[in-house]
Amino acid sequence: MKDPQVKAAGLHDCLEPIHIFMYVLHHPDRGYFLVDSGVSRAFLGHPQRYGVNALVDMELHTERIQLRQDTASIVRGLPTPVQGVFLTHLHVDHISGLPDIPANVPLYIGKNEIGPKRFLNLFTLNLINTLLDQHANLETWPLPDDNNGGFHGIVDIFGDGSVWAIHVPGHTPGSTAYLVRTPNGPVLLTGDVSHTRWGWDHGVPPGAFTANIDANRESLLALKALVNRHPEIKIRLGHQY
Ligand SMILES: [Zn+2]
Repeated sequence: MKDPQVKAAGLHDCLEPIHIFMYVLHHPDRGYFLVDSGVSRAFLGHPQRYGVNALVDMELHTERIQLRQDTASIVRGLPTPVQGVFLTHLHVDHISGLPDIPANVPLYIGKNEIGPKRFLNLFTLNLINTLLDQHANLETWPLPDDNNGGFHGIVDIFGDGSVWAIHVPGHTPGSTAYLVRTPNGPVLLTGDVSHTRWGWDHGVPPGAFTANIDANRESLLALKALVNRHPEIKIRLGHQY
């Protein structure tokens, strides 16, 4: 809200309904993968069991979440088991479906997302550790420390150019966007590098819950530059259609 463009546009701060998205990817040889985890009915029914205390819930508003389709029913409906979950970052609204995902399914996160004390955000430390601790395999993308196209490392996940993990730090240190080359054209899943259409269009990064706003802005502008170079890319933003 402190960005000069926000002030110039006369936007004001208020509660705004958001969507919590999960994406299902089907690779013809490797099977099914998820990007982020949706929302678990078990989590929503008993958030305290997963470490949500009153303070966290004041921000999370679990009582207001309207569950359209829970993660368990989506996963059950797939013809073959999920092979892995690609996380954009470790915020609650992106890992709240983990209780519905079998414990042996590997989770993948971005570089530096977990610090030496596992997770640095003390506010949600207990919650995030509780959700992660049920899962045996937590892998970090092996992102090189180069500066490729303005990005801090890119990984060709399957080695065939079909899905790319792109390190876009700022919102969190390990924030990761995914570029998926589908039969209907490329799709960019930005994660929370940008929450809204307005933020994307104006190059204004999210404010609330963002660890490093300047780094987030740089990452957002690098993604926008990628789309400018390849205008056929469809964009899926963090929390808004
Ligand atoms: Zn989010």
